[in-house]
This record gives sequence, structure tokens and C-alpha cells, in this order.
Amino acid sequence: MKSTKWQPEAIKKSDVIKAAKFWNSQDSYAPFRDSNSYDVIIGSMPYPPKAIASKAHEIATGKALKPSDFPGARDGLWHRTLKALGFPIVEKGSDDALAYEVIKRLKESRDARLRRLAKSTSAKPMRTAVTVNRFIRNPDVVAERLYLAKGKCGDCKKPAPFNRILDGAPYLEVHHIQPLSENGDDTVENTIALCPNCHAEVHDKRRLEMTSE
Ligand SMILES: [Zn+2]
Ligand SMILES: [Zn+2]
Repeated sequence: MKSTKWQPEAIKKSDVIKAAKFWNSQDSYAPFRDSNSYDVIIGSMPYPPKAIASKAHEIATGKALKPSDFPGARDGLWHRTLKALGFPIVEKGSDDALAYEVIKRLKESRDARLRRLAKSTSAKPMRTAVTVNRFIRNPDVVAERLYLAKGKCGDCKKPAPFNRILDGAPYLEVHHIQPLSENGDDTVENTIALCPNCHAEVHDKRRLEMTSE
């Protein structure tokens, strides 16, 4: 859909960063609120994509967007615009979204956090329904990679830290070098067997790569 009303192409990376600074300086930015479904990641911190897109559009063109200017959130015009500028969109409730939210909370004051913890009334987490597209991984690829690994991590070369209780085999995790979500192949060649430490480190680095250019 071609729109003359909006000029997403006018938004520059620096406009998005300015919009994030603006959001930080406000207690609220009516009519936008924290988003329920997605965050956009700017400088390792999560922000509500609609509010950021609206403010960035205003900085770039002089015209703010209204909530009604956001038809269809997922992979809609504004998500695509932010992503194209190098700002990842993460789904609330995902491990990535939690990781960024924790980074933010660690930067904020501990007093405020302790007040929130004291006030929180429920020890049971909220639930949300999400639509997930899962990849059906080929078990032969996993088995063959584990066989080739001979019980050693493909990165640090150390032996697996423990044996799986189910069958006594060395516990290693089979990781896709080019992620399946980025069109990587589910082949033995595109996998590496990693110990849990190295696997966590690889995904931590990937988050950083997502966050910077
Ligand atoms: Zn390792
Ligand atoms: Zn992995």
C-alpha cells in the first residue's frame, strides 16, 4: 500500500535515537503507552514501537502519527521501517525481550525496583497467548552432529559438563550457525555442538549484533 500521508522513508536513524531520548524524558507520552506485544530495541534498551515511530516521524517530517495510523502491528509499515534502520523488533514474552528488559531494569534505580517487588501482588506470572512459527528440526541432523562432536564442545573444545540423564550421553546443544530464522539450512554443515556456556555466549553475542548496525 502506497501512502502519501506518511513518509517513513524520511525517517533517519538519528531521528529514532532522538525519539528514544524523548521517550526517556517523559513520564508518559499520550496517547501512546508501553506496548503489549512488541518492543523496538534502541541502544540495548526496549521501547514501544508505535510511540517511537510516531515521534521519529514527527522529528523527520513535523507530523506525529496517531494510534489509528498503525494498521496491523506485526511486520507492518512501522515495524519494517524501524527494522530497516537497524533497530530490531522483539516479541514481548520472548527470551530476547526479557534480556533487554533486564538490562533496562539493571540501569534503573534499585529503590524503585524494590518498591515494585514489594507491591507486586501475585507470585504467579502473567500469561499471554502468542502465535509461534516453529521450525521442525531434523533429528538426524542433531544426532549426526552429536556423533561427530564426540562429547566435546565445538567452540571451547572442553568435554560436555554433564551426561544427559536420559541416556547417559554427553550433554551438548546443537546450534545453527546461520539461524533457521534467517533462512539458514537445517543441515549437519550448518550446525555446531556447543556446551551450554558457549551456546549462551553465542546467543548473547547475536543479540549484540542485532542491536548494533
Ligand atoms: Zn564450550
Ligand atoms: Zn543456538
